[in-house]
Amino acid sequence: MLSKPLSALTAETLECCGVTAALDVEGGMQVVSPVTGEVVAALATHSTADAARAIDTAAKAFRDWRLVPAPRRGELVRLYAEELRKSKDELGRMVSIEAGKSPSEGLGEVQEMIDICDFAVGLSRQLYGLTIATERPGHRMMETWHPLGVVGIITAFNFPCAPWCWNAALALVCGDPVIWKPSEKTPLTALACQAVFERAIARFGDAPDGLSQVLVGGPELGEALVDSPKVALISATGSTRMGRIVGPKVAARFGKCILELGGNNAGIVCPSADMDMALRAIAFGAMGTAGQRCTTMRRLFVHESIYDQLVPALKKAYASVTVGNPLESSALVGPLIDKAAFDGMQTALKEAAELGGSVHGGQREAVEGEAAYYVKPALVEMPEQTGPVLRETFAPILYVMKYSDFDPVLELHNDVGGGLSSSIFTTDLREMETFLSARGSDCGIANVNIGTSGAEIGGAFGGEKETGGGRESGSDAWRAYMRRATNTINYSSELPLAQGVVFDID
Ligand code: NAD
Repeated sequence: MLSKPLSALTAETLECCGVTAALDVEGGMQVVSPVTGEVVAALATHSTADAARAIDTAAKAFRDWRLVPAPRRGELVRLYAEELRKSKDELGRMVSIEAGKSPSEGLGEVQEMIDICDFAVGLSRQLYGLTIATERPGHRMMETWHPLGVVGIITAFNFPCAPWCWNAALALVCGDPVIWKPSEKTPLTALACQAVFERAIARFGDAPDGLSQVLVGGPELGEALVDSPKVALISATGSTRMGRIVGPKVAARFGKCILELGGNNAGIVCPSADMDMALRAIAFGAMGTAGQRCTTMRRLFVHESIYDQLVPALKKAYASVTVGNPLESSALVGPLIDKAAFDGMQTALKEAAELGGSVHGGQREAVEGEAAYYVKPALVEMPEQTGPVLRETFAPILYVMKYSDFDPVLELHNDVGGGLSSSIFTTDLREMETFLSARGSDCGIANVNIGTSGAEIGGAFGGEKETGGGRESGSDAWRAYMRRATNTINYSSELPLAQGVVFDID
């Protein structure tokens, strides 16, 4: 049992992180914890004029920050990682309070921030360009990478801090100031991350003002970033609906965009699969974070020869999974974010039943009062991939379908709008390699014998089609935060033209 009201725990946690903002502003934007449905804070919001000022400050900071050597910029991120380690418990708790995640998942999200900071520190000495063979004698050609400009980061409620850090840690070492527009449902975690960042800035000593700023408020602040030609790159995480608005607007002003949008992720369980491993991976992938991960497993194709073995075991796991208050229990499944999420889930289940689906679970659980929305995760056996199976419902629903032949199931797997994450469970080399090949999964993430969720920061994260095509985090995702220049240097005393073109003037 909590020994104090959630609002008091929230205030105490934020204070430990160094947040000084007033949390009880009259008429302010209310922040509701999905854990109990209580209002835990009311915050002053920024106006679009504030957003314009923040952009100007960041643009000014860019002029100085781009000239700081990259390894020195990395030092700031190294200090931030140190401060994050000190505040890991408090930040993890804020994630649990605001997004309803289990303590282990809340801490895991902060660990991802630490991991990407460590990655970015190393990267600050590795922003390499190529040296390229030239066709002209006495010439040298090379690529150099330069800071890009102000980066606007728009984030979703379900990962209230890690995706910001995937972007911010890379952007900062690449020489770019950042402005963060967090979800209006999770602004407190953002304020906590920013306060921890300010501690790193103070230790760093000579960073320009406005290197990292947070805008608290609704979509209009995201729009202000999206519309400003002074924001060189927009990195937007959220629904495909949001991406459909943001993408064309940024393109219309020739800005750069990283879109990290919704997914409709699937797993395929083949006859040779390790059944126990598959069961555990599917359970975490489909029910973890109450189905509110972009990488949540939403569709499952099971071979007919093992269907009657795997699906009953899955139903048992669904029936026995613990649903509860993440701050007071060790429950594996916490709350949905709000009533709209609950209603969306019930609508999808009703549609599925009307299309012949057999629904197991999905009912509301009386964990807290009327204002909190806890549900039993739902497993739905579907006769075919149709209706709600074709879209992302941001709730714990797993649609299970039987298949008989491998090639047609690959087609079905790819026959949805989302293209984020995917898994195959098999010990058959041919199936595995086919799934990972050009005619296999069309997703940005394709896994073998692990679930669809829980990616590491070392790889590039993102997906294709309606997931938006963006990549962030590891691998060479840093290139999106820099501009590339191709330089050709003539150190000869002649002026040969490329392609042998002759243009002699007397
Ligand atoms: P959402 O689209 O409702 O909101 C996301 C953010 O976009 C918020 O900060 C919101 O204020 C802002 N926004 C909304 N409209 C905007 C506009 N017109 N212009 C600028 N900004 C605008 O998403 P949500 O409900 O917070 O998050 C859930 C969704 O996010 C799911 O679809 C999930 O799959 C997706 N998601 C994707 C990833 C990924 O990496 N691919 C990660 C997390 C969540």
